Amino acid sequence: MGEGTTKIAAERASQCCIEPACGASYAIDERLYSCPRCGGLLEIVLRPGSQVAPQAWRAWWEARAASCDPRDASGVWRYREVLPFADDAPIVTLGEGNTPLYDAPRSARYCGLRALQLKHQGCNPTGSFKDTGMTAAVTQAVLLGARTVVCASTGNTAASLAAYAARAQLQCAILVPGGQISSAKLAQSMDYGAVVLEMEGNFDDAMRVIREVSEDDSIYLVNSINPFRIEGQKTVAAELLRQCTWRVPDHVVVPGGNMGNSAALGKGFLELFELGVINRLPKLTIVQAEGAAPLAHLFAKLDLKSSAHAPLSNDALVPVEHPETLATAIKIGSPVSWKKSLRAVLATGGQVLSVSEREIADAKAVIGRDGVGCEPASATTVAGIKRLVAARRIEAEESVVAVLTGHLLKDPDYVIHYHRNMLCAPHHSADGSQQERSLNGAFRNPPARLQATKAAILDHLSHAAEEAKADGPKLD
Ligand SMILES: [Zn+2]
Repeated sequence: MGEGTTKIAAERASQCCIEPACGASYAIDERLYSCPRCGGLLEIVLRPGSQVAPQAWRAWWEARAASCDPRDASGVWRYREVLPFADDAPIVTLGEGNTPLYDAPRSARYCGLRALQLKHQGCNPTGSFKDTGMTAAVTQAVLLGARTVVCASTGNTAASLAAYAARAQLQCAILVPGGQISSAKLAQSMDYGAVVLEMEGNFDDAMRVIREVSEDDSIYLVNSINPFRIEGQKTVAAELLRQCTWRVPDHVVVPGGNMGNSAALGKGFLELFELGVINRLPKLTIVQAEGAAPLAHLFAKLDLKSSAHAPLSNDALVPVEHPETLATAIKIGSPVSWKKSLRAVLATGGQVLSVSEREIADAKAVIGRDGVGCEPASATTVAGIKRLVAARRIEAEESVVAVLTGHLLKDPDYVIHYHRNMLCAPHHSADGSQQERSLNGAFRNPPARLQATKAAILDHLSHAAEEAKADGPKLD
């Protein structure tokens, strides 16, 4: 790409190691996946060129929302002043972002809140929040002159990378542990033309071999530690605030898996605060599934007064060796971005907690009754909010936004099993033995089998209406 393009980006941003004891800094166009000096995570540090009044940022972004230019129409590139790219960078976009912020009255009542809003990142082009990061990472791959982009993934990341690589006409390789990828997500990757490589061994084996492959200069690794993905994903903070007419919500609640999303949101809010675009921060709260909750365990042990200042060592987080949850998108025992994520939670005064499989499944069905379809991991948010309201750690009058990360159709088997009462989760007995137990969801809605007559249908409809009335208090 043009030398000027790279030079302008280099003046605007650099890649920095997040380890306070190291703090090494690297040029924006170096092809790095972690700090060469200490192995720590990298993050992009921006240097805004000139002093701009906060009102000006907002006015630019508002005006672009009405423009048909692809750069303005994208819900990521509209906020390009806070991205580490030159204005004329050749962007790879599918019109990502621009996702709806829904009022969810039923979910609000379920949680004990006066109002609740759902920011549905599952409405992105490939059905998950990953697209907002992938548009930035694949744009960087093109700038670096890569011919092939690769990732090891069992889910949404693979589908998203496959789509953006196709858009950029780059070769895309996806390494998956054989037989362990959901059919919906595999279907997406195949249709977008990715080379899908089913490997022997587990996810860790796939990660090891993909790191070796990406030592080749023509191959760019777009795994979860790629700092450019975080940059794209952080723009959801600006989009969300714009949709709230720049009134900062009291709480923003996100699911926690590999922690890239919460790290990105935290970075987004903190940068907007530093720029003066907002004058206070929402409390950022992360909700994990009980069987895959290493950060919630660590958070429960923290002395909040001292840990806000002292950096945590790498082994402070004890990985969950065999993570268990039906919410596969957050079935992660050793989250890569936990330090960035925890830093954001502590800086904003939020918290980290975990919820049970039953709570996730019921919350998902309640979200559905608001006409909003999400994948199971997304529903940890509403389940977590319900708990926090009950514990008076969120007040009924406060403004709360839950971030939904994936679309309902990413995991239709889960939904059908829930409503047919066939959804089972592992249960550990007191004697240490393990068995599968039905979740017995509270809001099941299985299909009925009827004779093909008008009378049978009308009779069933009136019966269903009566049942809904009797069920009302549970939901309303
Ligand atoms: Zn370092």
